[in-house]
Amino acid sequence: MTAAAGGGPRRTLETPVEFLTGVGPRRAEALRRLNIFTARDLLFHVPHRYEDASTVSAIARLRVGDDATVIGTVVSKGVLPTRKGLRIFQAVVQDPSGLIEVGWPGQPWLDRQIQKGDQLLLSGPVRFYHGRQLAPREFVNLGPDADPTGAGRVLAVYRATEGLSFKVIRQLVEKHLDALLPLVQEYLPPALLAEASLPPLPEALRALHRPTSVAEAHAARARLAYEELLFVHLLQRRAHALAKQARDGIVFRNRKELTTAFRAALPFELTKAQVRAVREIVADMCRPERMHRLLQGDVGSGKTVVAVFAALLALENGYQVAVMAPTELLAEQHARTFDALLAPLGIIPVLITGGRSPKERKLAATRLQSGEPVIAIGTHALQEERTQFAKLGLAIIDEQHRFGVEHRRALVERGGKGEKPDVLLMSATPIPRSLALTVYGDLDVSILDERPPGRQPITTALRPESARERVLGFVERQVTAGRQAYLVYPLIEESERSALRAATKAFAELAEGALAGRRLALLHGRMKPDEKDAVMRRFRDGDLDVLVATTVIEVGIDVPNATVMVVEHPERFGLSQLHQLRGRVGRGAEESYCILLGDVGPEVAARLAPFLETEDGFVIARADLEQRGMGDLFGERQSGVPMFKVADPLRDEALSEVARAGAERLLQSDPELRRPEHAGLRETLRRSYGRAMELFRVG
Ligand code: ADP
Ligand code: MG
Repeated sequence: MTAAAGGGPRRTLETPVEFLTGVGPRRAEALRRLNIFTARDLLFHVPHRYEDASTVSAIARLRVGDDATVIGTVVSKGVLPTRKGLRIFQAVVQDPSGLIEVGWPGQPWLDRQIQKGDQLLLSGPVRFYHGRQLAPREFVNLGPDADPTGAGRVLAVYRATEGLSFKVIRQLVEKHLDALLPLVQEYLPPALLAEASLPPLPEALRALHRPTSVAEAHAARARLAYEELLFVHLLQRRAHALAKQARDGIVFRNRKELTTAFRAALPFELTKAQVRAVREIVADMCRPERMHRLLQGDVGSGKTVVAVFAALLALENGYQVAVMAPTELLAEQHARTFDALLAPLGIIPVLITGGRSPKERKLAATRLQSGEPVIAIGTHALQEERTQFAKLGLAIIDEQHRFGVEHRRALVERGGKGEKPDVLLMSATPIPRSLALTVYGDLDVSILDERPPGRQPITTALRPESARERVLGFVERQVTAGRQAYLVYPLIEESERSALRAATKAFAELAEGALAGRRLALLHGRMKPDEKDAVMRRFRDGDLDVLVATTVIEVGIDVPNATVMVVEHPERFGLSQLHQLRGRVGRGAEESYCILLGDVGPEVAARLAPFLETEDGFVIARADLEQRGMGDLFGERQSGVPMFKVADPLRDEALSEVARAGAERLLQSDPELRRPEHAGLRETLRRSYGRAMELFRVG
């Protein structure tokens, strides 16, 4: 303890932060909240942005309406009460060009944190309020002894946390940077760095914290992002390679019996994308390695037909097929779709859900145990003990992200005679191919990026509150014409209860007003699953005209007679969510409409624009990912796949491609990363991704 307490020469990258000079127990605690546990973590703590003279505006030049960043000294400050009881903290800041007032409504406590003489870095819009006033979206207190102008140097701005200001983080980094940098060695192969035009690690870390230009800082960030992308690709490709190596799959033979008959009986031509996907799947299934393929395509792109081909290939080889859906309703729907498609071949799938009677389930279980080649469609109930497949050859998992890894595994491990079934995952959340290769790098991916022809476009519009009566009148006329409609309310303030209140109130108003005499029902998240299913079934069967719902409408539910989707508070939705909602209409022959109803500001209107302009799910998904980041997407894939800290696979798309190619080559030359020159790489990979490294332990 005593030796380490002073920091000094014995410091290593593993030294816990509390032993660094300038860090006491309280700061250490705050640093841990930023995931900074060791000196290394501090060194790798990436600034979230940079400011330099080129991004900072002269105060005198600010115009009302600008959105700007300035650096200035506080010359006066104070808390002003307003008539409405709101207290505003105000400061006047000055730079060599002039003065501006800055206002923080409702944040009187800032009076304790900001002192006269402090340098502030501020960004936000300039408004008119008794003259020009800056409304800071973000600010950094640089302290009293910062450079007067910030000019001529680049400022790394770190994300602060409670009890740890930006200023302290920067001071700590400054204090220890020179001592820590010599401890860092490059571990990525120089050839890879050269190929990606990236600086080596020590130089990158220096430039990350103490850049001489913003460009240099960005190159430094790219070095760290590249490393993350490379590591993820290494792990994914390794997992993929191991899966391919394991030759424990079933070798199906393309007998072209059922599949050919099916194709001949289809009332339409397959799209090119469908033909491609079927070919990829058939090739996979006919190889000795197990298939691990993701089929992704927008709503209505025709995934089910593709899945049927795979199922028939298994059947004609004498194997059983399991189709697993996340809810009973979706399972029933799949069963009906499969029924309809397979009727010409005289094949009838078995439906296995919790809702079936014990007798029905027992009967189904007997058939599965007999090894008879059948298609079993169901929910989680498929994995329960009673439904033992004697000869499972193919597992198809729909809306795969809605199942945990464990659920999927449980089904997939259920082969007969030690055989492992092939796996086809399906997803209706389209993401760009390059991104799919990053997120799903351990799978093969087939993409349906083409719509079956003849689908009518869905008329989509954004309408203001003042148009409410007209919109509801339109819904009423559609209902009179025999159609059905959805009216959707978002979760407001993260609470199902308030959404329910809004939906309930609207429901009552509609039932007495605009839609009086119509058959309405309310669907919300507080209902029990079977109550929800009952309402959905009535809607599906045409026993309801209008469904007023919080966002619990089943993704993927198919009611061809529904032609109108009205979405309230569209500003509360992400673009992909809206796209999924819109996908509930336009499934039949009638013209369909999606109306976003509500007053939104120009910013929200701009955000919603991609949704209004296109029905292409890939374009919408990309825009959505750009707007909201990728958290959700990677959250779904906890199966040993680490989250990115620095890289953004969408923004860093090109870098990710380079990293993927690099990872492939690295693994070709040294599949287990055993070569001495890769020791550092291996060690870092282990430290960063611990458990996932088992992939490299399997010989
Ligand atoms: P997804 O599951 O991808 O949302 P589906 O497989 O349910 O899409 O297909 C949507 C609709 O399009 C179904 O009615 C289906 O019969 C029809 N369909 C599928 N492929 C084609 C095609 N190539 N040409 C015309 N219609 C098609
Ligand atoms: Mg579907």
